[in-house]
Amino acid sequence: MLLIPVSDIIRRLSERGAKRVALQFPAGLARQAPGVAAALRDAGFEVIVSGDPCYGACDLALDTLTYADVLVHFGHAPVEDRSSVIYEPVRIDFDVGVLSRALPMLESRRVGLVTTVQHVHLVGAMAAYLGEHGIEAVVAPGDGRTPLPGQVLGCNFAAARATGADEILFVGTGVFHPTGIQLATRARVVALDPFTGEARIVDASRLVRRRAAVMAKAEDAASFGIIVSTKSGQQRMGLARRLAALSDRAFLVAMREVSPAGMLDLGFGAYVNTACPRLAYDDQIRFPVPVLTPPEFEILCGARAWEDYAIDEYLAP
Ligand code: SF4
Repeated sequence: MLLIPVSDIIRRLSERGAKRVALQFPAGLARQAPGVAAALRDAGFEVIVSGDPCYGACDLALDTLTYADVLVHFGHAPVEDRSSVIYEPVRIDFDVGVLSRALPMLESRRVGLVTTVQHVHLVGAMAAYLGEHGIEAVVAPGDGRTPLPGQVLGCNFAAARATGADEILFVGTGVFHPTGIQLATRARVVALDPFTGEARIVDASRLVRRRAAVMAKAEDAASFGIIVSTKSGQQRMGLARRLAALSDRAFLVAMREVSPAGMLDLGFGAYVNTACPRLAYDDQIRFPVPVLTPPEFEILCGARAWEDYAIDEYLAP
């Protein structure tokens, strides 16, 4: 069944006079590719589908533009301006009444409200629900990487910080976003999964302890590869150069896919990741050697105090 409506995409493509169209889907939507491709072909477009893995709007299949006038990227809001790309975020609804499960855990009468891109269209309805229950919801704009008010990414918590609230309600799935929000804001964070109705108070200390163990392992590495991504929206060369200057054991390493095999092949004793910040936190278990975040490497090099431990964020320039 085709879950993605194409009429609006066809209108936007026609307005641009596009004839050849490339399509890019993240893993969760990839099975929509044949249906969307068929609908666009029937509307008169030549279609090519990107078959490479895609993790976010930071990972655009710009190579397909060799064969197409426009790239349609599904599932995410823009993290950067690209005139040749149409972004088509996908909305996932839920009944905002599920917020009742979080109400007993909220201590403040004024809370910051944030969510991920799939649910950001419900921010107004969620804020109204909280208002009806005596809680003022503060919804703030993020930065250029999170253009929708109340939107956070796994690499960008600007919209949470901008609320200035001492307590933040995150509505969404998974543990990473709320953990990152707590480390980025130092606020009390309540996380609500809108599908299971499970609400919990977030405790980031476990993540920090795990990361301290990785840092201890990296300390005596003979060499550090400072990974610089070649993906469109993950490249932080300025930061990588600054980190490399902190130690004569550090060297810049360009990578498209940050893979265990690539790390082993190159033979550095440890790596510092300036690509997608989540890689170091989520995927350390897959990696054959320690992979540090930029703030962790700064601590190791004495350029940052341990008390200033921070989550790695990719903020808009
Ligand atoms: S850099 Fe990572 S966390 Fe940020 S948008 Fe890309 S995939 Fe998501």
